[in-house]
Amino acid sequence: MGIGWDLHPLVEGRPLLLGGVEIPFERGLGGHSDADVLVHAICDALLGGASLGDLGGHFPPEDPRYRGISSLELLAEVARMVRARGWEIGNVDAVVLAQAPRLSPFLEQMRKRLSEVMALPLEVLSIKVKSPEALGALGRGEGIGALAVALLRR
Ligand code: MG
Repeated sequence: MGIGWDLHPLVEGRPLLLGGVEIPFERGLGGHSDADVLVHAICDALLGGASLGDLGGHFPPEDPRYRGISSLELLAEVARMVRARGWEIGNVDAVVLAQAPRLSPFLEQMRKRLSEVMALPLEVLSIKVKSPEALGALGRGEGIGALAVALLRR
């Protein structure tokens, strides 16, 4: 099993990308890459399951090669690395924590996009969304968080 968690601030002037899907919203997630918090959490779950460290260790944010890079490219590379070490990806389950916008209409699109990038059947990739119930920084809409677990086997 691997676990991943990530959090990015919501800022003005950026597109909101979650699970590789652009969501219409007045703010987007800030960060060096496209700040796709869901993809980052899934990457860390996959890396964790294979004891391969974390995303920042493989793709340092201060490295100019990764500035503005699509997180989907990172996810494809992480899936490749995990498989190259003899692991098969079993299933992935993820939760996005967002007060706004409403994400449920986009979940199927996210699943489809990410299952393609990871070369996984749709039915082993689960993405859920949970409201922080107006509590704390996430509840005030200051950012969006994501949690993911991944089962690997060999
Ligand atoms: Mg991140």
